[in-house]
Amino acid sequence: MRFRFPIVIIDEDFRSENASGFGIRALAKAIEDEGVEVMGVTSYGDLSTFAQQQSRASAFILSIDDEEFNSGVPEEELHVVRQLRSFVKEIRFRNADIPIFLYGETRTSSHIPNDVLKELHGFIHMFEDTPEFVARHIIREARAYLDTLAPPFFRALTGYAADGSYSWHCPGHSGGVAFLKSPVGQMFHQFFGENLLRADVCNAVEELGQLLDHTGPVAASERNAARIFHADHLYFVTNGTSTSNKMVWHSVVSSGDIVVVDRNCHKSILHAIIMTGAIPVFLTPTRNHFGIIGPIPLEEFKPENIQKKIEAHPFARHVKNKKPRILTITQSTYDGVLYNVETIKELLDGEIENLHFDEAWLPHAAFHEFYGDYHAIGEGRPRCKKSLVYSTQSTHKLLAGLSQASQILVQDCEEQRFDRDVFNEAYLMHSSTSPQYAIIASCDVAAAMMEPPGGTALVEESLVEALNFRRAMRKVDEEWGSDWWFKVWGPDHLPEEGLGRREDWMIKKGDRWHGFGDLAEGFNMLDPIKATVITPGLDVDGDFADWGIPAGVVTKYLAEHGVVVEKTGLYSFFIMFTIGITKGRWNTLVTALQQFKDDYDKNQPLWRILPEFVAKHPVYERMGLKDLCRKLHDMYKQYDIARLTTEMYLSDMVPAMRPADAWAKMAHREIERVPIDDLEGRITASLVTPYPPGIPLLIPGERFNKTIVDYLKFAREFNKHFPGFETDIHGLVAEEVNGKIVYHIDCVKD
Ligand SMILES: *Cc1c(COP(=O)(O)O)cnc(C)c1O
Repeated sequence: MRFRFPIVIIDEDFRSENASGFGIRALAKAIEDEGVEVMGVTSYGDLSTFAQQQSRASAFILSIDDEEFNSGVPEEELHVVRQLRSFVKEIRFRNADIPIFLYGETRTSSHIPNDVLKELHGFIHMFEDTPEFVARHIIREARAYLDTLAPPFFRALTGYAADGSYSWHCPGHSGGVAFLKSPVGQMFHQFFGENLLRADVCNAVEELGQLLDHTGPVAASERNAARIFHADHLYFVTNGTSTSNKMVWHSVVSSGDIVVVDRNCHKSILHAIIMTGAIPVFLTPTRNHFGIIGPIPLEEFKPENIQKKIEAHPFARHVKNKKPRILTITQSTYDGVLYNVETIKELLDGEIENLHFDEAWLPHAAFHEFYGDYHAIGEGRPRCKKSLVYSTQSTHKLLAGLSQASQILVQDCEEQRFDRDVFNEAYLMHSSTSPQYAIIASCDVAAAMMEPPGGTALVEESLVEALNFRRAMRKVDEEWGSDWWFKVWGPDHLPEEGLGRREDWMIKKGDRWHGFGDLAEGFNMLDPIKATVITPGLDVDGDFADWGIPAGVVTKYLAEHGVVVEKTGLYSFFIMFTIGITKGRWNTLVTALQQFKDDYDKNQPLWRILPEFVAKHPVYERMGLKDLCRKLHDMYKQYDIARLTTEMYLSDMVPAMRPADAWAKMAHREIERVPIDDLEGRITASLVTPYPPGIPLLIPGERFNKTIVDYLKFAREFNKHFPGFETDIHGLVAEEVNGKIVYHIDCVKD
């Protein structure tokens, strides 16, 4: 496999008709004659932007044959050295290994300070050796560097795909050949390209190793990733953290076990509860009236309080073994709330032997000191005495993984052996026997990319861009003065430049911005890379203003202007600053929001500004943007929907049967469809999840209370009035009865 990584030459004379220009072009030609691409530029330009080019190059040649440098004027020489130093520093901030050569006519290394020299691979003196000789030397170093890049599995896979051997094994498309036999197949082939299809092989290929037994290059890659993430054990998973969570659970939980779970957990954890037959005891997170989920208070984690909850639980209290098998916490909520993991470990070491942090949104935290102890597993972190620590991470959400790329990290403890063989039995229960090799390769590469210093630089860049976005939004706000503008949820104090300190991002007791009330000192922080944008109309106490802009309107508008956000709430939506962020992306968002404001203030007709939406829902054709917002806002306000939603999530959910038993009713069809009006007191057989916020509300086996039924009635009413803005409730089934739509939920038969 050949990769394209040019050698970059920076020389102000690269295009000049003088001796120096002649010399450097001779070197460039000699390199090209060896079959290696050269990119020549005449200045550094913007240093840090240029330094980002390190990812595309195989070596740098920096010329110091500069008139300034040769001028004999000390200040001018100093300027050249300074520029050189900053450039080399920028490169080394991201890349410790790429070869950098200096190239000069008259100057020698004695003119360059040591701190720069130590970062270099050589100093080339023009005219001392032939260009051909110098070229070969540089190419050798560049190739040696490229050879170190590919991590084990990706290396083996590219080697295999390039090998061109005929295969008799599956997949049936045989390296893509099957696609070529049909016109639509040709299209598919042209779209995805040959390599993806050549690399789509099955596990009969011995030389690539086995994901399911963790052997060969796959195992080497998992070990490499374990080293990079500072885990004792690491497993790649090719069907998402949804599956990683079930694997962790199935390896330690069985029927009738008590488990302690964040009420705001991802639905895969609820699926795990159903599949294992566990009895869940929930820890309840705080919520503010924006609908943002806050931390579970520290008090709830104390063993005595967990025991109290168990004693108060209708089934858990009858279980003989009251020691919970596992604790699962959502570590980084949608909105970026994080816990101090060491505090939780200290409280629960030995009390619960499996401490599981669902870090689907947090794989980046191990690579920047900014996050300190606010993530599960990292360099130099102490072990528990008796408890194993697990972290499950969606490589694809914040790092450079293909969709479904995920990993499980384990930290051993002092007294309990993590049994890899037993664990792998659970791993197999949830794995396909035909894993997708491109996903494995992306797990491998995503991990290798995070190796410091490169990984640290990437995380720092996304943090800095996230802060720049927040600063830009504040600046717009200041310029509009008393006029309205969007706010970004977070602490009032924003560092003037750069990253600031972790201290600035702590969620502190009594601060009004978060609305979570009294919180323990030093227990929670906000991850700035999650940016929740608040639209006008609702304050943190749940009070509606006279006018407002529901977030659903803004995000529809953004979508029609090419900006797609991650999640939409009532008066908030959120975006993420992943390592794929660019300045262009967030600046486009800021401009699109400016356009929205302008169109809103002018009450622009919807047919003009939301043509696609209006085409689908012609009832809005003659309405203005402001009118639409007013109508929606009035309805939310009339039903006091912010408080209703908060109360609903914090209301008492009384379990009437184990989730697994409720599911058994479903499997045996001992259920009936109950219309909304008759739901109060009934036991749900399905998971009920409103979008937004996409957090499960009622779990199989729990009874509907009045607050929840009121909410469902509101949703029904609302959906009638505002087609296109429906509150989507997963679990709610719409059926036509006598020409009318009736909403039902599957409940256990009475
Ligand atoms: C997305 C998510 C998951 C599931 O991850 P996938 O990789 O999409 O399967 C699990 N937990 C949390 C908290 C998530 O946000």
